[in-house]
Amino acid sequence: MRGKILIVEDEKELINGLKLNLDLEGYEVISALDGAEGLSRALAEAPDLILLDIMLPKKDGLEVCRELRKRNVTTPIIMLTAKGDEVDKVVGLEIGADDYVSKPFSMRELLARIKAQLRRDNRKERRAPSVYRFDDVEIDFIHFKIRRKGRVFDLTSLEVAILKYFVAHKGEVVTRDDLLGRIWGHEKYPSTRTIDNHVLKLRKKIEDDPGEARVIFSIYGEGYRFMGGV
Ligand code: CA
Repeated sequence: MRGKILIVEDEKELINGLKLNLDLEGYEVISALDGAEGLSRALAEAPDLILLDIMLPKKDGLEVCRELRKRNVTTPIIMLTAKGDEVDKVVGLEIGADDYVSKPFSMRELLARIKAQLRRDNRKERRAPSVYRFDDVEIDFIHFKIRRKGRVFDLTSLEVAILKYFVAHKGEVVTRDDLLGRIWGHEKYPSTRTIDNHVLKLRKKIEDDPGEARVIFSIYGEGYRFMGGV
């Protein structure tokens, strides 16, 4: 699979056409017919890219885009704008969309834009925000602290690096190999046991009950899944 694409669009025929073409190109495709469903699928299923129509029932595309960015979701978003929606295009980019195509668009043009966005997203370090909040937890990446229920916990630089990676990939399975490569670098190769020990220490700071993880889940035989704010 080359990546998972979420289409948020209320024209069923357009969804079907897009699905067919994206399937052929090897993408996994999921879809939503209104803005509210689109937002929840974007948050729950961590797509690699979102095609977002502007005029949508329940919640328009601009609102969906704004809410995703407010929640620190950095997934590339390509807006699908109707012909002549000049204002919407500008607003779309201002509120954090990455690109737009105007309807009617050619499949070839859209595919090129999709590929460009996915390439860019792979290259850029997905940056974690300086402060990340969910439920009653606040991770402060600048001062190396976790604040939870009135308590403050200090973080080591390694823990900060792990948490940044987790936040940038929240909802996804992060393998121990990912962490080894990204955080330790492949020259210094600690044992997977070392990683587990660091995660164990992180759980004591971030979880209400470290024995019953609700934020950093263990995925047996794979690694971890960070679910804070997902
Ligand atoms: Ca529409």
